[in-house]
Amino acid sequence: MLKNNGQDVPVFGSLFADEQVLLSKLRKEPVSAQVSYRLLKDQLIDEGDARQNLATFCQTYMEPEASQLMGETMEKNAIDKSEYPQTAKVEESCVAILADLWQTPKEYKAIGTSTVGSSEACMLAGMAMKFRWRNKRKERGLSIEGRQPNLVISSGYQVCWEKFCVYWDIELREVPMDKDHLSIDVDQVLDYVDEDTIGIVGILGITYTGKFDDIEKLDKKVTEYNANHEHELVIHVDGASGAMFTPFVDPELPWDFRLKNVVSINTSGHKYGLVYPGIGWILWKDEEYLPKELIFEVSYLGGKMPTMAINFSRSASQIIGQYYNFYRFGYDGYRAIHERTQMVAKEIAKTIEETGLFEMYNKGENIPIVCYALKEDSKVKWNLYDLADRLQMRGWQVPAYPLPKDLDETIIQRIVCRGDLGKSRGIAFIDDFHQCLKELNEAHILFHENRDDTYGFTH
Ligand SMILES: *Cc1c(COP(=O)(O)O)cnc(C)c1O
Repeated sequence: MLKNNGQDVPVFGSLFADEQVLLSKLRKEPVSAQVSYRLLKDQLIDEGDARQNLATFCQTYMEPEASQLMGETMEKNAIDKSEYPQTAKVEESCVAILADLWQTPKEYKAIGTSTVGSSEACMLAGMAMKFRWRNKRKERGLSIEGRQPNLVISSGYQVCWEKFCVYWDIELREVPMDKDHLSIDVDQVLDYVDEDTIGIVGILGITYTGKFDDIEKLDKKVTEYNANHEHELVIHVDGASGAMFTPFVDPELPWDFRLKNVVSINTSGHKYGLVYPGIGWILWKDEEYLPKELIFEVSYLGGKMPTMAINFSRSASQIIGQYYNFYRFGYDGYRAIHERTQMVAKEIAKTIEETGLFEMYNKGENIPIVCYALKEDSKVKWNLYDLADRLQMRGWQVPAYPLPKDLDETIIQRIVCRGDLGKSRGIAFIDDFHQCLKELNEAHILFHENRDDTYGFTH
């Protein structure tokens, strides 16, 4: 083995190729860049192909020009508004574009910021509701002494809402889902509300199934409530996936700032905003809905600029990537990409349904998610975990998991179609899916009664 650490040592002839790459203590001497690059890249080789990962909502493809631009702007710090004033303007422009896309009525002045993702965005939205609830009580001459604020949401919430409630000591009130209500049960929701409700969250794209809450109907209920109560209810829309999809594919659907009581919306730029992770956005319909206590000033060209993010320093390259997509695709470009993705999702759903084995929960409606369970009378000896294993052998990652609380007897499988799943990749998936079913039906399967621990099989 060659000890020489110079550029011209063949990587696999070097001492380093003979050692573990993962260290628990820094090596004393440096390693050449060439060797480091190769060995680290190799270390990550077996993580699976991100493009075949149908488990994630997160973007797995960007154009080379976008990647180049992002790579070349990594050093820009999004919080340094005076050092990078043009970058700050790019962010403002993104916020303005989203305010327009989410149909902010003219009489309002939308305000917002980029975040690391929807989770940070939801924290900010939740805090704004909490502070506003407190301020409104003060205005009414009521104290908050001994009061426990609560947040109302369907049990299909993403874990970030549980985090929000734990971190900021809010009671999470779950409106349960059942077989007939795979999104928030709007007729029940007001039963969960009281004077200490800081707001209701509507979900545009329930993570488990891709279903939409009926936000228009929710808004009507809230209007009725507000007409009869001094305590004012507001709606936040968690549009992590849907808020960058629906405006292009179903622009007539009212779920956004057109609705009277929707006061804030978050989205993940790294989901259907088509940017690599992590970038998210949170907008308030008007300054009135973002209490001043949550706004901090950073210096900006000798002056001050308001910021409301939780995080401080982070690279601005994701913001620039988001703007690249906005600028490059325009409205019609996003629409074309999303419509095509939805078409692929519907085709995948159709072939899965045609096997007759599955009960379909989502066939690519709303957002391009295909979600299904095995029919109770399907009479097959394998289960969805086995199918997930089989698909994985062909490189496809398609998770199987239980639905949330109250429905957790049902195991589902979910396919998230993304912009980079073109029609011909979609067909390749369908072919593999059929092949996997055939193999499973013919396989000698280890009998498993307990779905949780054993689901391997042998030939
Ligand atoms: C993905 C998701 C989140 C969290 O988004 P991140 O950007 O990953 O932090 C929150 N809510 C919903 C509904 C989601 O689908």
